[in-house]
Amino acid sequence: MSTPVSDHTASPLIFESGQDGRANRYFARGKQLSEFLPREALRDDLPIPDNSEMDVVRHFTRLSQRTFGIDVGFYPLGSCTMKYNPRVNDAMASLPALRDLHPYTPDAFAQGALRIMWELERSLCSLFGMAAFSLNPAAGAHAELAALLIAKAYFKARGETKRDKVIVPDTAHGTNPASAAMCGFKVISLKSDKRGRVSVDELKKVLGDDTAVCMMTNPNTLGLFEDHVHEITRAVHEAGGLCYYDGANANALMGNARPGDMGFDLMHLNLHKTFTIPHGGGGAGAGPLGVAKQLVNFLPTPYVRKKNDSFVLDFDVPKSIGPMRSFWSNFAHIVRALAYIYANGAEGLTKVSQLAVLNANYMRVKIREFLETPYDETCRHEFVASAQELKKATGVRALDIAKALLDRGYMAPTIYFPLIVPECLMIEPTETESKETLDAFVDALRDIVETAKRDPEQILAAPVTTVVGRLDETRAARQPDLRWYPST
Ligand SMILES: *Cc1c(COP(=O)(O)O)cnc(C)c1O
Repeated sequence: MSTPVSDHTASPLIFESGQDGRANRYFARGKQLSEFLPREALRDDLPIPDNSEMDVVRHFTRLSQRTFGIDVGFYPLGSCTMKYNPRVNDAMASLPALRDLHPYTPDAFAQGALRIMWELERSLCSLFGMAAFSLNPAAGAHAELAALLIAKAYFKARGETKRDKVIVPDTAHGTNPASAAMCGFKVISLKSDKRGRVSVDELKKVLGDDTAVCMMTNPNTLGLFEDHVHEITRAVHEAGGLCYYDGANANALMGNARPGDMGFDLMHLNLHKTFTIPHGGGGAGAGPLGVAKQLVNFLPTPYVRKKNDSFVLDFDVPKSIGPMRSFWSNFAHIVRALAYIYANGAEGLTKVSQLAVLNANYMRVKIREFLETPYDETCRHEFVASAQELKKATGVRALDIAKALLDRGYMAPTIYFPLIVPECLMIEPTETESKETLDAFVDALRDIVETAKRDPEQILAAPVTTVVGRLDETRAARQPDLRWYPST
């Protein structure tokens, strides 16, 4: 499984191997594309190499084999819910009648597409207990921004302009404080208690008539459910603030608990995590924003409504914050998510969450045999382990474990997040993996820890089977070398 993709058939990369006259010229006898283009749009000096079609196909196919994805192997990236994406959802999104529909199509001729949006919204409302959802935001962080813009507009409409603080527990996802700061709020960080939960007493100390929103990630980034959630929402409401639920990791929640019932006024979902939309690499996402009744009139436009027996896009939501995204947002994702919901049904989605929680707990109790698991109690969809003791004993850190996992054919878990756990490994198996896969991963992790105790150098040298070995992490992130430059 961990066999590195061999480059033994490799000719040099196409940029180096190209030679004049190699390109296929199937169409050369007809008119050249350049004849249809304005002269000023053309360049004579573009020094890109000529290659045969076959060389180009081989080059890109080889590149595709060098990458790692959920279709290649286990991908336990905490907080990212890398579950299997059933192909049927893609097939639905690719139906020509949906795929080829122009977003300027008048409502009367797009009834099927509008109905899909409306049915997804209704499904999400019933799953999560909110009054309405906007399908407009294109990602989780985008929905957070929309929510905070709504909070701002809401308090402004009530003449409560003094409310400029957003409270964010230290177990929240990093995008929460970033979105609040971006929206011009002052961020108050709330330290979690010994149990890794929000302390209601600490929360009450920072609540006041300047509180705008309390943003909670639940289950939080330790994989724990906030068990005082009702007291928390009550306290925030008593102070006149709004409660925001970061539901990006709803994989532990569906069919089992509803943020609306817990008293939340705003929430977002990441369809590209929980609802099997392929994600990663910064690709298109979908982050529906749910609101309670008093905020419905602030939703982004357009908003799909059912009028009598037909569906319309409403651009006149009275106090709307305006559009967050052009046209119908990422419509193909809306189709995928609805296909997933209908394929599973209410019972199926409830079971998805139960199995996601079961898988995470199964791994947690196996892994704690050889790594510490701080906050060790029944977790939700994910849990955290720590390599702090291992580091003290051997010098092998969470980062090194992550690299050694790559050698063994696995994607590494999320590391060094959340920040409150030293040498953190954040592991999320999801419900779509078999017991055999979970066991094999635990064995690989155990092997790494045992090898580190015996021969740390071996782990410190990892990865050795991947296409590229150890990189300078900082430079790889800050100064990636992604372009080819002609040598002349
Ligand atoms: C992934 C995630 C986000 C951010 O979502 P994006 O779609 O990447 O912007 C926010 N909160 C939590 C808890 C997440 O896991």
